[in-house]
Amino acid sequence: MPSRRHFLHQAGLTTLALSLPFSDSIARALGQQEPKVLRVALMGLGSYASRVAEAMKDCSRAKLVGVISGTPSKIESWKEKYGLPAQNCYSYDNVDEIKNNKDIDAVYVITPNALHKEHTIALAKAGKHVICEKPMAINAQEGEEMIAACKAAGVQLLIGYRMHFEANTLDIIKKQRAGEFGKTLFFQGLSGFIIGDPSQWRLNRALSGGGAMMDIGVYSINGARYMLGEEPIWVTAQETKTDPIKFKEGIDETITFQMGFPSGATASCLSTYSLNYLDKFFLSGTKGFAEMQPSTGYGPIKAKTNSGPLEHTHVTHQTTQMDEMAAIILDGKQPLIPVDGEEGLKDMHIVDAIFKAVKTGQKVSIPK
Ligand code: NAD
Repeated sequence: MPSRRHFLHQAGLTTLALSLPFSDSIARALGQQEPKVLRVALMGLGSYASRVAEAMKDCSRAKLVGVISGTPSKIESWKEKYGLPAQNCYSYDNVDEIKNNKDIDAVYVITPNALHKEHTIALAKAGKHVICEKPMAINAQEGEEMIAACKAAGVQLLIGYRMHFEANTLDIIKKQRAGEFGKTLFFQGLSGFIIGDPSQWRLNRALSGGGAMMDIGVYSINGARYMLGEEPIWVTAQETKTDPIKFKEGIDETITFQMGFPSGATASCLSTYSLNYLDKFFLSGTKGFAEMQPSTGYGPIKAKTNSGPLEHTHVTHQTTQMDEMAAIILDGKQPLIPVDGEEGLKDMHIVDAIFKAVKTGQKVSIPK
C-alpha cells in the first residue's frame, strides 16, 4: 500500500500536507470543504474554564472565540491571552446581546451548579447551542426546563461529560457491550476528595444544590450507568457527617448509595468530601472484570481487565471532548454514550432519588 508521504509526493503536496492534519490536507488538495469549526464562548472564568480554554488550544474542530464573565479584569486578561475580539466578550448583564453575534455558535456554561438553569435558558433564548457543565442542574425539574427551553429555541444542549470520550472508558464499555465480562452483575464507584476553603460556593447550598453528591457523586452515578449499560430502577442511600460546621444542612459530606438494575445487577457507591485519592470504578461479571483507578480524574486514567492492563495513550480529556462535541453539534455525530440533556436528566432523577432515600430511609424507585 502506498505510504501517506508517497501519496502526497505524487500529488505534489508534501510540504503543504505535512504541516497540516492528514484529513484536512487531503480535503484541501481535493478541493473539498474544510470541516467546520465550532466557535465557542466560555461563561464563568473559574478554574475549570481555565482548564477547558488551555485544552481547546489543541482542538481541531472547536475554537475559543469569546467569554462571558462578571469580572472586567478577567475579561481583559483572557482577551490578551487567547486573542479574543472585544465584540465577543460579554458580562452577565449584557449577555442577551449575544443573540446578535454571528461569530459565536455555542456557549459553554461553567458557572456554579445552581446557575446552570438560568444561564442555559438565557443562552438558548439567544439562539446559541449550549454545552453545560455537570451536574446539569440541581434537580430533575430544572433539567426538564432546560431541555424544553433548548428544544423550543431549536438549539442543542450537551452536558460536559468528558469521560464519555475517554479512550480507556470507551474500550471497557465496548468490551462490556460485547459480553467479554459475561453478565455484569456488580459495579462499585468511589468518588471523593477532601474539600478545602469552607467559604467556597461548593459548600453553599444556594449555589451548589448539595455537597459531594452534586460535585463528584454524579461521576459514580453516571459511571454505573455507562459501565453496566442499564438504567437503575431503585436506590437506597445513607448519609454520614463528621463535620456539621463545615458541611451545613443541605450540604452532604458523605453518602453511600446503592442502585438496582433491571437485570438484577447492583451498584454500590460512595461520594465524599472527606477522603482523598478516592476515584475508582470496578465492574464485575460472570466471565471477567474491569477496574479503573483513577477512573474519572483528569488523567491519565489507569485501567485493567482480567486480561491485563489497557494501554491507551493519554489525551487531554477536554481537547477530545470539545472536538467530539463540535462534531455532534455541527455534523450530527452520534457518540457511543450520549452527552445530551436527556443523559444529564437521567443523572438528576437519580440524584433526586438518592436525596429522598437519605431523608426517608426508604428504598426509592426511579421514574422511567
Ligand atoms: P470555580 O469557582 O473555579 O469557577 C466558577 C466561576 O463562576 C467563577 O469564575 C465565578 O466568578 C463564576 N460565577 C458566576 N456567577 C457566580 C456566582 N453568583 N457565585 C459564584 N461564582 C460565580 O468553579 P469550577 O470548579 O470552575 O466549577 C464550575 C462548574 O464546572 C461546576 O458546575 C462544576 O461542577 C463544573 N466542573 C466540572 C469539571 C469536570 O471535570 N467536568 C471539573 C470542575 C468543575
